[in-house]
Amino acid sequence: MSSKFDVVVIGGGPAGYVAAIRAAQNGLATACIDAWRTAAGELSLGGTCLNAGCIPSKALLESSEIYHRACHELGAHGIDAGEVRLDLARMQARKAAIVARLCGGIQGLFRANAVTALAGHGALLPGNKVRFTPHQGEARLLEADHVILATGSQPIELPSLPFDGERIVDSAGALELDAVPHRLGVIGAGVIGLELGSVWRRLGAEVTVLEALDQFLPMADAQIAREAERQLRRQGLDIHLGARVQSGERSAGGVRLRYEDRQGSHELEVDRVVVAVGRRPHTAGLLDPLSGVVTDARGCIEVDAHCRTSAANVWAIGDVVRGPMLAHKGSEEGVMVADLIAGRYGHVNYAVIPSVIYTTPEIAWVGRSEAELVADGVAFKAGTFNFAASGRALAMDQAAGIVKVLADAASDELLGVHVCGPMAGELIAEAVVAMEFQGTAEDLQRTIHAHPTLAEAVHEAALAADRRAIHAINR
Ligand code: FAD
Ligand code: AMP
Repeated sequence: MSSKFDVVVIGGGPAGYVAAIRAAQNGLATACIDAWRTAAGELSLGGTCLNAGCIPSKALLESSEIYHRACHELGAHGIDAGEVRLDLARMQARKAAIVARLCGGIQGLFRANAVTALAGHGALLPGNKVRFTPHQGEARLLEADHVILATGSQPIELPSLPFDGERIVDSAGALELDAVPHRLGVIGAGVIGLELGSVWRRLGAEVTVLEALDQFLPMADAQIAREAERQLRRQGLDIHLGARVQSGERSAGGVRLRYEDRQGSHELEVDRVVVAVGRRPHTAGLLDPLSGVVTDARGCIEVDAHCRTSAANVWAIGDVVRGPMLAHKGSEEGVMVADLIAGRYGHVNYAVIPSVIYTTPEIAWVGRSEAELVADGVAFKAGTFNFAASGRALAMDQAAGIVKVLADAASDELLGVHVCGPMAGELIAEAVVAMEFQGTAEDLQRTIHAHPTLAEAVHEAALAADRRAIHAINR
């Protein structure tokens, strides 16, 4: 096998594998090194996203939602399903099969595009050389015209509560539990904490979420966050805001957590705890001190707007660089970099990256929130629409939530769209396209939306921005 490539990508997650495929499509001889292994020791491309993130979490969210609905919501449809039983082992096996299928799919795409997959560890040396250490065998030196660093991120551990893989787990461990805990503690009410807390709540656990900040989902629009908080509490997630976990220790049957809030110090006894306090860039063993690549105070590899590092022809993309830790953000950076290397045009529109939280209801947004527009001194108009008036949402028995459209008061350009409601993650795509084309509220208003669909709520919210909603009273 050759040791000389046009492009070597280190990391085979959604940033790295997409970059590798696009580089190969551009006619470049490309290799992608990845260290992720299955329990059987096989290379498992797809990174955190496919192996222990986006995909397995969505598989369990879907299964647990079906279980919850079967237990509690079929009666409203006039269906008596009798006794509903949970087979967690089968639920987990279904999840594992989806993961295996998708990871195998990336291997297939690599073969079809002639990307060389290398199983093992990569390290950047000076002069665009990469040391590849296979899981078995001798390390060897690869030469590349361009190197793309896409090594992703890892969960942050609380020093006073180290992961033990059994009772104190990270997000990956929380996706692998083999029994529903009676009492589950979740530390951190971010995207991951809320999604994983929802899974185990729906399956029957008593879930307590401890969040250090006073505000719920500060990155979302405040009106949407309030609605989401109300819905999630209604489902039984016991959310404590302003509650900072100080320490914890294993107790006889579980874990005793100590946290502080305005009222003082508290103890909470749980059977298991998921620590979901954020993720940090993963660069351990990656950068030779003379490689010329610089990291910032948070450990992110420093890059410019086109993902160039401070070393010539070395690029970095995905979770290992600044910006939201989202799979689609990393993938688009991968496409951009692979196209720039090939001499094509490449660009990422960082202002129009959608965020989705896959709770029930889902929470999704793109662009700026109302508070951000106020802080930026932008004159804007807002329109909202409640799913309670959506025929489709009522038919689905999922009529909780709202859509909110924010547009420039003078030019009418869309500035932000925020959804808390059924299929919000799908609905937001319309807003993303509209904003990518610098669309206006009027563009959404004049676009025909099929009836009855959830998307009509986006249409009505756009109309409401001009006090012209048909199915709501305009105030
Ligand atoms: P990663 O996916 O982390 O991939 C990096 C890869 O590089 C890994 O395979 C790693 O083993 C490998 N690697 C690291 N160092 C080396 C080295 N030196 N040599 C060789 N290989 C190396 N994002 C969304 O957009 N939507 C979601 O719904 C979503 N859900 C999530 C749910 C959970 C529970 C978690 C944990 C994350 C979720 N994310 C989601 C975030 C998403 O997984 C990440 O943003 C995404 O995986 C980042 O992609 P990446 O390619 O930058 O890094
Ligand atoms: P995210 O960064 O979106 O994954 O969310 C992680 C969340 O964990 C943030 O909202 C943090 O405020 C929260 N967090 C971090 N440390 C603690 C802690 N010690 N106790 C409770 N919450 C925490």
